[in-house]
Amino acid sequence: MYKISLITGDGIGPELSESVTELLHVINDKIGVKLEISTVEAGDNTLKKTGKALPDSTLDTIKKSDVCLKAPVGESAADVIVVLRRMLDLYANIRPAKSYPNMPALKENIDLVIVRENTEDLYTGMEFDVGKTAIALRTISEHASKRIAKYAFMTARQRNGKKKVTCVHKSNVMRKTDGLFARSCAEVAKDFGDISFDQMYVDACAMNLIRQPDSFDVIVTTNLFGDILSDEAAQVVGGLGMAPAANIGEKFALFEPVHGAAFDIAGKQAANPSSFILSTKMMFEWLAMKNNDAKSVKVAKMIEEAVYGVVGEGFRTKDVGGNKTTKEFTQKVISKLT
Ligand code: ATP
Repeated sequence: MYKISLITGDGIGPELSESVTELLHVINDKIGVKLEISTVEAGDNTLKKTGKALPDSTLDTIKKSDVCLKAPVGESAADVIVVLRRMLDLYANIRPAKSYPNMPALKENIDLVIVRENTEDLYTGMEFDVGKTAIALRTISEHASKRIAKYAFMTARQRNGKKKVTCVHKSNVMRKTDGLFARSCAEVAKDFGDISFDQMYVDACAMNLIRQPDSFDVIVTTNLFGDILSDEAAQVVGGLGMAPAANIGEKFALFEPVHGAAFDIAGKQAANPSSFILSTKMMFEWLAMKNNDAKSVKVAKMIEEAVYGVVGEGFRTKDVGGNKTTKEFTQKVISKLT
């Protein structure tokens, strides 16, 4: 039995959460991976109601669970996800960008993953006003850089890909911070003779993701660059509606779509639930690895194949060129599971 805490979020979050809850019930009832789902609140609505974007009761439930699923939250994201990542030391943010059939993608045969350092950089909230000037502190440590580099190399080794890690930084300008990041990655590379290693400035990477996205395998980068490049990579393969993510630590993990709360389409049944469904697939992969559980491996494969099958038939939501509602798409994916 796996205990899953589910943050339902803001904007399109509740609609996506409904899709994933239905999917999880089918997995529990018909496939036999036993799941206990605890729905918890966090985000803008919770802030309005309780005065806190991440209430203690939510944190308690998350800490008692085996894993967390998080739908997007709105303006209070920094007080929810950024806090959770640091509090639970979810140091690796894994953002795959993979070609699916029938997508408005720039190119075919893309299969890359961005491994983003999740705890440091300009996202630690160390910002100050000094008169009429605002100052932000950027932290990059050798410990965190080597830890994320190692994760990236392990990912490249495990994946059925090009066995390549590209370290993305801007060390020609940020000589101290990105200099340390680049050096740390290069040092870790020495322990992975079977994986090729190269480095790229972030501006060149932004261009190459458009020009030759199929040349990448694993990209390892710092927090802010990873945030930006992963939205770009998602768009290259079809859009944010297809983009899942994982936040992984030594003991705990949290899975969420790459995108935000998308208030412009909230409540209209126009959201593509694939991002959250594929995040759930990543959750089963992690549970499988952590618990040596073959059944969860199978569930992860079934979920991915179901999404492939559905979009392959041209059954798509509006964001990727179709006309199906969130509910219709979810039902179709579920019908392929059973
Ligand atoms: P954040 O900064 O919190 O990531 P954002 O302002 O970048 O948020 P998002 O909410 O991530 O904006 O979404 C950008 C746009 O992409 C939305 O306005 C929406 O039209 C589209 N979008 C995002 N997610 C989905 C989805 N699951 N299905 C359909 N369209 C989506």
